Amino acid sequence: MHQAPLSFDLAMLLDNLAAGVIVHAMDTRILYANPRALQLLHMTWDQAVGRQDLAPDWHLLDEFGGVLAPAQYPVNRVIQSGQPLTELVIGARCAEDPAPTWVVLNAFIDKSQQPQRVVVTFSDISQYRRLQFRDIVDRAFDAVMVCEAKHLDAPDGPRIVYVNDAFCQLSGYSREEVLGKTPRIMQGPQSERASRDRIRAALQAQQPVRETLLNYDKHGTPYWVDVSIFALREHGDQVTHFAAFERDVTEAKRTELAQRDAAQLDPLTGLLNRRGFADVSAGVLQGLRASRQGCAVVAIDLDFFKSVNDRFGHAAGDQVLREFGVLMKQVARKDDLCARFGGEEFVMLLPGAGRDQAMEVAERLRVRAAQVRVAAGAEWVSFTLSAGVAADDIADHLDKTLMDADAALYRAKAAGRNRVEHG
Ligand code: GH3
Ligand code: MG
Ligand code: MG
Repeated sequence: MHQAPLSFDLAMLLDNLAAGVIVHAMDTRILYANPRALQLLHMTWDQAVGRQDLAPDWHLLDEFGGVLAPAQYPVNRVIQSGQPLTELVIGARCAEDPAPTWVVLNAFIDKSQQPQRVVVTFSDISQYRRLQFRDIVDRAFDAVMVCEAKHLDAPDGPRIVYVNDAFCQLSGYSREEVLGKTPRIMQGPQSERASRDRIRAALQAQQPVRETLLNYDKHGTPYWVDVSIFALREHGDQVTHFAAFERDVTEAKRTELAQRDAAQLDPLTGLLNRRGFADVSAGVLQGLRASRQGCAVVAIDLDFFKSVNDRFGHAAGDQVLREFGVLMKQVARKDDLCARFGGEEFVMLLPGAGRDQAMEVAERLRVRAAQVRVAAGAEWVSFTLSAGVAADDIADHLDKTLMDADAALYRAKAAGRNRVEHG
């Protein structure tokens, strides 16, 4: 092997090196520390050399400021795994001086010596750390959260290791309240299962993911966030953490939902309008076909409604329509769709129901409607309805079923009103 024509004093080199060098025995005891190492650790030779553990007022920190357990100390990791560590970012904090010293560190086992030794070398990067991490991310307008990549599926994991000011403002939690907790504390009753599942699948595949989520703040108030989550890797290799950027999109989401409601809901009764019924029923029917179920529809028209308006006024007529909407909702089950198609015409879609079941629902509605009394000044308005029922065993002919129900409704009218017929 080529021998470099260089001769120098190794001790002098180590004394003047800009990097800290510590040599440990295989039982982690410190055998040697150069002056730069002692300076960076604020220790004297006597405090460092011969020690097996850190002084009790000293802590080592991971990249995000989390306190490392002794098993995670670089020297212990190298001895445990037998593998070198390269460019690991570590903080060292002494109780007297709470601002940590940040170093980038290499550690390896020197197998050329007997007994073997662990050599740890490190350079001070405190000034770069301060600039990059605290000053920039702490002050970002978007909420930033970092959690560990471990225990993704545990009920109380993964652990949050960093949040910035914007996160605390948005979520209402202080740093102390969230650090060490799981991001699941932000979930609530309306948080969408599907988006959570997509995020979990992406994290498990270590893929970046972006979702709009409904979160809940400390006081239980919901807010919408546009979340971008990505994996942080140690030296471009093993994923150790996930970082999330969260932007509050509550206002935009409210506008979007209000626009959707305006397009789909009847403003007088709050029931679905014809378009809303078409949109929502399409999804419902798809689900029914997938589970090989049928459905039934009830078409309803209030009787002699023109004369309600004529006798009591349009406002009283409107109130009748509203109250009928409330009654429909009361009679309907949770999954039934209730719609006002226009004027005094209403439609109910009963997923999973057959003709007989729909007849019962329509009949119950007819009886209850006849009992309603709506105040119009000093007078009470009462009204009746006629209804037509039709069923679709394979949930695939909604238009035809609606026409059949309409034809049955027409027969109910022709037969004297205040009655229910089926197709
Ligand atoms: P039938 O028993 O044959 O159904 O008689 P009807 O009077 O109910 O039938 P028609 O279709 O002739 O009249 C429906 C009336 O509903 C006409 C209109 O004045 C009234 N109407 C439609 N939309 C509204 C509304 O938004 N508010 C009020 N108050 N009335 C409405
Ligand atoms: Mg009518
Ligand atoms: Mg009508």
